[in-house]
Amino acid sequence: MLNKKTVDDINVKGKNVLVRCDFNVPVKDGVITDETRITAALPTIRKLVADGGRVILCSHMGKPKGQVKKELSLAPVADRLSELLGQPVKFACDDEVVGVNAKAAAAEMKDGEVILLENTRFRPEEEKNGENLSKDLASLASVYVNDAFGTAHRAHASTAGVTSYVDEAVVGYLMEKEINFLGNAVDDPVRPFAAILGGSKVSSKISVINNLLEKVDVLIIGGGMGYTFVKAAGGSIGKSLLEEDYLEYASEMVKKAEEKGVKLLLPVDCIIASEISDDAETAVSPVNAIPDDKMGLDIGPETIKMFRDAVKDCRTVIWNGPMGVFETPKFAKGTEAIAETLAELDATTIIGGGDSAAAVNQLGFGDKMSHISTGGGASLEFLEGKELPGVAVIAEK
Ligand code: ADP
Ligand code: MG
Repeated sequence: MLNKKTVDDINVKGKNVLVRCDFNVPVKDGVITDETRITAALPTIRKLVADGGRVILCSHMGKPKGQVKKELSLAPVADRLSELLGQPVKFACDDEVVGVNAKAAAAEMKDGEVILLENTRFRPEEEKNGENLSKDLASLASVYVNDAFGTAHRAHASTAGVTSYVDEAVVGYLMEKEINFLGNAVDDPVRPFAAILGGSKVSSKISVINNLLEKVDVLIIGGGMGYTFVKAAGGSIGKSLLEEDYLEYASEMVKKAEEKGVKLLLPVDCIIASEISDDAETAVSPVNAIPDDKMGLDIGPETIKMFRDAVKDCRTVIWNGPMGVFETPKFAKGTEAIAETLAELDATTIIGGGDSAAAVNQLGFGDKMSHISTGGGASLEFLEGKELPGVAVIAEK
């Protein structure tokens, strides 16, 4: 369990509370196309409002790189938040984030009111964890709440630096939930415990594989990264994704799994084609005998069956990385089968990773999982066993 102070450990009545949320939502033509991250922030905001706090929300959106980019303004988020909360959320539209509007609004607020600041990344100091922005943000409030799990792996002004200049710093409910789910799964799982890894690159997940081999009973590797493992074992993988530089690492991981008594499963068959397209002609091939001009783009039927059997009796399953090129329906079957399998399991099922979460939601299994992390990069760093900077700065209970 998380041993950090949370919003349940403080008294905010009559106090200005700065809340770092993750409102980094996709916006197209001024319309928010996926509001998962906004709804995920509501429990903390509602709690602080109910307790009579004067709630000042802040977040980044996209990558404006320290410049004012109007298309990355948080204005649409303020409107949607007003609707979801059923009370006005005033938008302090200062290009410098903490300017005349924010200062006036923060000074005039009454208990239970909510305002939202402009995109923190409009200021160049944000991503450099610069003192000026940290102090500006802290000047608005005496209490700080970090509820932005999706950005907790970054030490930025609004996620880390600001805590040096406030009286109290705690985490919100979303952060608490994310860390408890991921943390309990990794450190104190109900066993058998399986991890399913996929996605495109071994290199982006080396530390995850290495760390999880210390923890799991079963490790399943599929997706694009699987082919580097197959090749390392002497297979012919045609034009499939390969990271030459990681062949040796793959062999080491297979050896480590043996030493640790972890059951490591690799695909045995796959769906091959010569191009990534729904018009492509496909065939099933043994994974270690793929013709030179073809590539493996999804796991095959034998593999699906084998992976299913392997997790059948597991009580905790973490999944990161799709099993194939799921964006193209022809190569989405493996990912879909795994999503369906997890949805039916009587186990704690946790999805981490941006593309995996998107796949599970897109396939309609979202509400069947125990937990879908709202932070892609942050959940990966967590699975790597790293302490997240945005959590490290929060006081312990
Ligand atoms: P996550 O965001 O969940 O951590 P990744 O970013 O590591 O996942 O990987 C997702 C990408 O991997 C997807 O875009 C998917 O198309 C790609 N992918 C999966 N399997 C293959 C494959 N066999 N060949 C090429 N790309 C693949
Ligand atoms: Mg990704």
